[in-house]
Amino acid sequence: MAVDAGVGINEANRWRYLNHIRKTKGPFNEDAEISEDGPDPLQQSKILVIGAGGLGCEMLKNLAMSGFKDIHVIDMDTIDISNLNRQFLFRQHDVGKSKAEVASAFVMKRVKGVKITPHNCKIQDFDEDFYKQFQIVICGLDSIEARRWINATLVNMVDDEDPDSLKPLIDGGTEGFKGQTRVVFPTITPCIECQLDLYAPRAAVPLCTLATIPRQPEHCIEWAHIIAWDQEKPFPSLDKDDPEHITWLYEKALNRAQEFNIPGVTYSLTQGTVKNIIPAIASTNAIIAGSCCLEALKIATQAAPSLGFNDNFMSYDGTEGVYTNTFKYEKKDDCAVCGSLAKPLKVDPNWTLRELLESFATNAAAQLKKPSIRTEEKTLYMQFPPSLEETTRPNLDKKLRDGLGLVEKQEIAVTDPAFPLLSFKFILRFS
Ligand SMILES: [Zn+2]
Repeated sequence: MAVDAGVGINEANRWRYLNHIRKTKGPFNEDAEISEDGPDPLQQSKILVIGAGGLGCEMLKNLAMSGFKDIHVIDMDTIDISNLNRQFLFRQHDVGKSKAEVASAFVMKRVKGVKITPHNCKIQDFDEDFYKQFQIVICGLDSIEARRWINATLVNMVDDEDPDSLKPLIDGGTEGFKGQTRVVFPTITPCIECQLDLYAPRAAVPLCTLATIPRQPEHCIEWAHIIAWDQEKPFPSLDKDDPEHITWLYEKALNRAQEFNIPGVTYSLTQGTVKNIIPAIASTNAIIAGSCCLEALKIATQAAPSLGFNDNFMSYDGTEGVYTNTFKYEKKDDCAVCGSLAKPLKVDPNWTLRELLESFATNAAAQLKKPSIRTEEKTLYMQFPPSLEETTRPNLDKKLRDGLGLVEKQEIAVTDPAFPLLSFKFILRFS
């Protein structure tokens, strides 16, 4: 009896301070939201966490301890030994297991009453019906492509007739001592694609640069990784965690760098480039994840105004002291996801179609690795299906103006298999 009473008191105590914030009438909440009999928004909000890595572990812990009861998490990765310094829900014996599954089990064990459903797969494996069940989506990703995909999906899901179709998207990102939190109300406020130019497209180096004129040590490493490995096949398949494989790539890259007089190729740079490692600091992740989860709590409970409608972007910089800045990022009318206008695109009319195509990889406003391209009247180049690729391939070596007959202010549409929902519209401006 005494024990039972103790447990009851502890359980009530656990949420005492959180409930105080939620149940106190302030300038931003309504009577119904703070009433004792009203529905508990934290009980009712189903929230999706994308990513169970450095940010995701923090987010799952924070959301559970903020009173969210029904959480789903998607992550396709398995736990690597190098994750253990900051992804604190994982232990040595978890190496090799699914991040989503281990993280969910850990948090459920520690925070009673929370249900976390893990999905050990890619976000692209689910369709709109899956994403419809959530009230909030929160991302702790290191991939720009995955962010763009979920952003396009959520914007596309919005049905003006149905307010429930609008899912706030909270996005956290960190790199070393820097990080950012932003909140998107799809179709209403600027989306992730509106802010695409914030990401320098460093990973998307066109193949021709790698093959012909490398300029940076990373180009030599990518050449060894993509071209030399494929030609020579020193091992049956590349294992990025096998030091012998990385050493092979490092030596190849070093030789190539010496040939072109490029300094800076090292073993650790090789490993970092091949594994696409973004330097991660546990405390930066904790700060950004904390900020993201606070926005989720504010959106769910209305206890205070969230980021989004006015200021929508918080940037944090711990490089020199501590600096944070919150500002309003503007929506772009020519955004491929939420805008309606075509984006102006400066091109040289003497470029071949191949040069135009390759420029999309490094163009900050496009960042497309496998573009297909057409005008309103004709198809210029299609990557798929193979038969169409073959028919349109001769166009690749034709010049834009003289060979293909493109004109100033011509509108072109570009598609890419990574973003099946999107068609990027551009207006050609000849230079
Ligand atoms: Zn947009």
